[in-house]
Amino acid sequence: MKVVIIGGGVAGLSLGLLLNKQNIEVVINEKMTEFHTRGHAFLMHLDGWSILEELSEGKNIPLPGIEIGEFNFNKSNGEPVKRQKLNLWRCIRRKDLIAFLNQLIPEGLIKTGRVFSHFIYENGKAVAAQFSNGEIEYGDIFVGADGSNSSVREAILGSVEFTKVEVKEVVGLCKNETLASKLPNVFTKFQSDTRGISFGMIPVSASDFVWFMQYNAVEADCCDKSTPEQLKAFCDFQLSDFPPIVNELLATNDYSTSYIWNTRDFGLLPKFHEGNVVLIGDAAHLALPFTSAGTTNAIIDAKTLTDLLLKIGNSELAFEQYYASRKDEISKHIYLGRELKELFMHPEKIDGDKMVVPLISKKESDVKGDKPLKVQYFTDPICSTCWVVQPMLRRLKLEYGEYFDIDYRMGGLLPSWTDYQRGPITQPSDVASHWEEVCMIHGIPLDGDIWLEDPLPSSYPPSIAFKAAQMQDGDLAILFLRRIKEMLFLEKKNIVDLNYLENAAFEVGLDSAKFIKDYETKAQEAFRNDLILAQNMEVGVFPTLIFTNQDNKTIIAKGYQEYEYFEDIIHQLIPNAQKRNLNTDPVFLFSCFSTMTNKEFSFLSEKSVEDTEKTLDDLYERGYIDKFESKNGIIWKSKLADY
Ligand SMILES: Cc1cc2nc3c(=O)[nH]c(=O)nc-3n(C[C@H](O)[C@H](O)[C@H](O)COP(=O)(O)OP(=O)(O)OC[C@H]3O[C@@H](n4cnc5c(N)ncnc54)[C@H](O)[C@@H]3O)c2cc1C
Repeated sequence: MKVVIIGGGVAGLSLGLLLNKQNIEVVINEKMTEFHTRGHAFLMHLDGWSILEELSEGKNIPLPGIEIGEFNFNKSNGEPVKRQKLNLWRCIRRKDLIAFLNQLIPEGLIKTGRVFSHFIYENGKAVAAQFSNGEIEYGDIFVGADGSNSSVREAILGSVEFTKVEVKEVVGLCKNETLASKLPNVFTKFQSDTRGISFGMIPVSASDFVWFMQYNAVEADCCDKSTPEQLKAFCDFQLSDFPPIVNELLATNDYSTSYIWNTRDFGLLPKFHEGNVVLIGDAAHLALPFTSAGTTNAIIDAKTLTDLLLKIGNSELAFEQYYASRKDEISKHIYLGRELKELFMHPEKIDGDKMVVPLISKKESDVKGDKPLKVQYFTDPICSTCWVVQPMLRRLKLEYGEYFDIDYRMGGLLPSWTDYQRGPITQPSDVASHWEEVCMIHGIPLDGDIWLEDPLPSSYPPSIAFKAAQMQDGDLAILFLRRIKEMLFLEKKNIVDLNYLENAAFEVGLDSAKFIKDYETKAQEAFRNDLILAQNMEVGVFPTLIFTNQDNKTIIAKGYQEYEYFEDIIHQLIPNAQKRNLNTDPVFLFSCFSTMTNKEFSFLSEKSVEDTEKTLDDLYERGYIDKFESKNGIIWKSKLADY
């Protein structure tokens, strides 16, 4: 099989490399004689750059660009709207990415100066691509990777209807070491809430930024062919009421290298192929730039197509599968791009919460299905028995995860110390000794000294904080709860302090500005509702887990229980439930749970205490995990990925 690729941009080069790696004959045909130095930089998601990393494995050619760890979104007067951790994104200069791909490409794979003209057909099947310089390339499969104005697309599917250009972007690259050292991995964006104008700056190296000014071109425009002076005057005028940092950055910009980008898209095509010709990248689909997904999608297209061509012998069937597996993701981006454009053009419709971070939406596999068992879990961030039960909940998730989802509810363990009496506990110092005892019995680290040194006055603030986290993202809220427990049980941090709560929210990837806003408003009400529910369900002990199956049969587990007890409940409520084989590989376990105590690791990996210690020490020595040593034990943290 010989594959002829038309277009040597990110999509074409990636596909050429992936096919070549599989020993499939391939030729990339690029219209330019030299690679574009035009174009600035783009954001790329891990889904895209992990494929590039795979391509360069063993080649000692480092992936260009830098990781972007934080998104700071502000109004144009500087007032913060969102501050969010982003650890899956990278900002890469276009020319560096093209150079990186070129370095990996074996000699002779690319033929330059070839402008696609038309296909030569025999018996209704394309057999060759004809180029304007008279050259011809024969092949079995032809791939149009020739960008948004694709001539290949035009040849096989006719013309597409582009949307009107209403939003434009002035883009530039400039050096500012001072700002780059202050904001080393931060994507900063300012957006007006009264008119369609925004400014974004993203570091692309230790000294350079790529910046963009998006503007509503229906309201005010600057000629595409304007001189650098005119472009500068236009930007200065549009951004005159933006914070000083914007001017500080633009002061170093060379406007002769900046240009205006006309943003437009077209609706999802009914197919990406015709016969033996298929489209990838911008030739196949085009979304508005608000979602920052163009380059990532181009690389995913290349990978998906390669995998399917290898898996399915029949290329047309492979093309159909390729369309089927890409179309939903692509149409989501087109739709999201349009939605964001609408909000951008009509800022009066924006409420701070609606601003969407340019994240690629979750994969289908992440979407929760309708599971046969509901579990209501009444807990409290300071509950030590809940901390002890955590390894069991984690294991249940691994072994029976397809049968249940957990609905986390806060039970309000400690309203205040006034007239408090719960078993033997009446004052903070009682908790200190209780925790030390729990630690001795269960072998799980807990440092009770916090109750002597800086006792928490109530467990309500961290409970309300959990509800605020849950309002943003149920999965991240679970990580948040885990994180604040670690802060309290191991690091002796008083998690009533809003600074700790805000830090925890940020660390797990929540939008911390929204978190604070919700904490002060809606989360209070949500917490009250949990308390009412706990009262109605007569929850008096923590943890309380209420398991309900689809026939509304309910079994309640109260307080500490052994693992087999929980398993038994699942089997009683779902008699044919099958336990999944437990994958005890340490790296797998750390990819599921980014932090573990020794007890947790031992329970999940089924290793003895000695083997657990040996394995964890070994992982630590090899740099896979980090550790925090508390008074009564260690917590290990994966260095593979934060979440
Ligand atoms: C010059 C340039 C600058 C860009 N700058 C930015 C930027 O700053 N920020 C950003 O987010 N995105 C930028 N992009 C877009 C971004 O690269 C793409 O959206 C994304 O990477 C998808 O890549 P692609 O390979 O599908 O398309 P493209 O990157 O557009 O690549 C298409 C390739 O096909 C070639 N080609 C076109 N027509 C023909 C033809 N008839 N015959 C043969 N070859 C042909 C082009 O020369 C190009 O190399 C730029 C694209 C280009 C071409």
